[in-house]
Amino acid sequence: MINITLPDGAVRQYENGSTALDVAKSISEGLAKKVLAASVNGQVWDATRPINDDASLKLLTWNDTDGKNTFWHSSAHLMAEAVESMFPGVKFWVGPPVENGFYYDMDLGDKKITEDDLAALEKKMNELAKQNNGFVRKEMPKTDAINYFTEKGDEYKLDLLSNLNDGEITFYTQGNFTDLCRGPHIPNTSFIKAIKLTNIAGAYWKGDEKNKMLTRLYGVTFPSQKELDEYLALLEEAKKRDHRKLGKELSIYTMDDDVGQGLIMWMPNGTVIIEELEKLAKETELEAGYKRVVTPHIAKESMYLTSGHLPYYADSMYPPMEMDGEKYYLRSMNCPHHHKIFAAEPKSYRDLPYRIAEYGTVYRYEQSGELFGLMRVRCLHMNDAHIYCTREQFNDEFRAVNEMYLKYFKIFGIERYVMRLSLHSPEKLGVKYVNEPELWKETETMVRNVLVESGIPFVEVQDEAAFYGPKIDVQIFSAIGREFTLATNQVDFSQGRSFKLQYTGQDNKAETPLIIHRAPLGTHERFIGFLLEQYAGKFPAWLAPVQVKVLPISDKFMDYAKTVAGKLKKADIRAEVDDRNEKIGKKIRDTELLKIPYMLVIGEKEMNENKVAVRRQGKGDLGVKGVEEFINEIAAEIRERRAD
Ligand SMILES: [Zn+2]
Ligand SMILES: [Zn+2]
Repeated sequence: MINITLPDGAVRQYENGSTALDVAKSISEGLAKKVLAASVNGQVWDATRPINDDASLKLLTWNDTDGKNTFWHSSAHLMAEAVESMFPGVKFWVGPPVENGFYYDMDLGDKKITEDDLAALEKKMNELAKQNNGFVRKEMPKTDAINYFTEKGDEYKLDLLSNLNDGEITFYTQGNFTDLCRGPHIPNTSFIKAIKLTNIAGAYWKGDEKNKMLTRLYGVTFPSQKELDEYLALLEEAKKRDHRKLGKELSIYTMDDDVGQGLIMWMPNGTVIIEELEKLAKETELEAGYKRVVTPHIAKESMYLTSGHLPYYADSMYPPMEMDGEKYYLRSMNCPHHHKIFAAEPKSYRDLPYRIAEYGTVYRYEQSGELFGLMRVRCLHMNDAHIYCTREQFNDEFRAVNEMYLKYFKIFGIERYVMRLSLHSPEKLGVKYVNEPELWKETETMVRNVLVESGIPFVEVQDEAAFYGPKIDVQIFSAIGREFTLATNQVDFSQGRSFKLQYTGQDNKAETPLIIHRAPLGTHERFIGFLLEQYAGKFPAWLAPVQVKVLPISDKFMDYAKTVAGKLKKADIRAEVDDRNEKIGKKIRDTELLKIPYMLVIGEKEMNENKVAVRRQGKGDLGVKGVEEFINEIAAEIRERRAD
């Protein structure tokens, strides 16, 4: 008998050679139908693989990342089986799970898969899935494996084999398809109930452009048709909300080859949003006791040697500029400049906490292949600030930072968010992490306590902290459930020392402050990209580039329309008149396309009574109102930054 320890700590006895599936069955038949794989002593295994020793076991289902990845990797094998049946002689490279599904790289020789083949391949995959074929694992001596693929003439698998040792080689077979694979796999193909092949692309073998271009076939599968339908609907919605598409349609930003890749130019509409965000940040930070600073975008090499950016982060910086025999770098972070401001005047404990903020411009070298719309760019504007405090002050300061996040989440209607607390790993002290075991323990405990006390959902991950302290990555989810990494908060007990930052403590001794790095609104680039998706381009009135469009029914009412717009502008409301010689129906439709929150339609009656007919984006007709009445209402909506 063997002892199996379950995640809740319960220990159960099973016969030697029992499988995870046997364990699941002993708990409930319903559970057994959902088990895709198992974590055995922390390693992901086939649910059908015999367990021969005492072990801790976690059953993995669709709701576990490892379960889902096993499902998708198995689907890649199923896809390969279908491809092989329709394109005999095809050779396969690798077929991993990815964020949303899986792919397989393949060499089709002189044949080609086209969009037209996808439906037939999906049909074939469905047929094969229904055959309920088990995924059978077989350990193979290296020579047998080499013989097998030599006979098949498959140079790709032979290449994979050349990097594997005897004793660690396994084959998996389902139906008529056998692959060199370390696994694991789902119990059988019938788990795969809904299939969609999503894309055909080219990919150089091993990612090297000197190598042959292989065909990369992407797909996604689900345990039910309902889940596939929901996924496809979400994709459709995400396409409509794509920040690159909306950014163009709403004239938010542009890029130009002469300026350079990844360098965003904010057009007037985008700049309005930027200024509103900065206004919000400035108000919020002023209230929270921050002071504002302005610092240059470049600095000498010596500063980045002190900060450690050089040589460690040289890869992510632009190359240096030489001037007057010195090297200058475009900054990739604002911190060092802020540290210099802290150091500019002597500080005592009375000056702490010292909080300085700047919407700082930074430049990062991202590979051109990595650049993506507003999400990955080379010039960013960061909602940055640094808090220099004593250890006694840390809890309050850190809690206040978290509260600021929550305040922003409320304003922007962010309902789902998670904080990821990254901790150090004690074995790597002095190598990957500053060798200060006590400080690590202390700061990690402080950060964890604040998160627990604030009731903020968070997960802990080991061995992913920054070099100089624990960090918190903030992930937010848009209205359609897509995840964005918004910002990183860091606790830093090291840079203070590198920069010799000091304050005089109560006992007159020199002390090094703790530093909190924070950027709740992230960068303008990423945050506005997020907001475009979050609002589907329909910004709330306070953020909308144009808040009101005045639409005269005909030229006869143009003067009155201009008078109304003038009054709005005087009340600091962003208003425009549609003075085109178009039918009112077209004017309304065009304004709706531009997603402008309010339309004021003006005709004979409105002009004679000094009124406006109000239409609200998404809500339709709100009736006729006096001009002053409308101005008061929208001014309050804007002032309170209401969602709608
Ligand atoms: Zn495989
Ligand atoms: Zn910083």
